[in-house]
Amino acid sequence: MCVFCKIVNKEIPAKVVYEDDLIMAFHDINPQRKVHVLVIPKKHIPSVNDITPEDKELMGHLWVKIPEIAKKLGIAEEGYRVIVNTGKNGGQEIYHIHFHILGGEPVGPMTCRNK
Ligand code: 5GP
Ligand code: ZN
Repeated sequence: MCVFCKIVNKEIPAKVVYEDDLIMAFHDINPQRKVHVLVIPKKHIPSVNDITPEDKELMGHLWVKIPEIAKKLGIAEEGYRVIVNTGKNGGQEIYHIHFHILGGEPVGPMTCRNK
């Protein structure tokens, strides 16, 4: 079972900020900005490449919840960035789809060429 499925199953702890039947949001273990939260579907979808038409409602729900979670975190008004790394070139490390919410301070240039 993948690490995020273990978080969903409460087999490993996480600082959960939102949870419902379909999704979960929790603080990243290695925050890259003042606020760094990961939003995941409870369903194990490995990456963006694995989204199928049957996930339409789930993905719509997840996007509806992202601004609500940002408001709850107190970062919505000043803004934030949502990032979904995909595959090797996208820098994905955990193959359970997740949406990074980064904010609480200016996030910086959209991409960088640092290796
Ligand atoms: P990726 O590079 O796949 O887009 O991002 C994976 C993210 O998951 C990283 O930001 C990493 O810090 C975070 N992460 C990895 N393992 C854990 C964990 O066990 N708990 C939490 N809360 N975050 C994790
Ligand atoms: Zn998983």
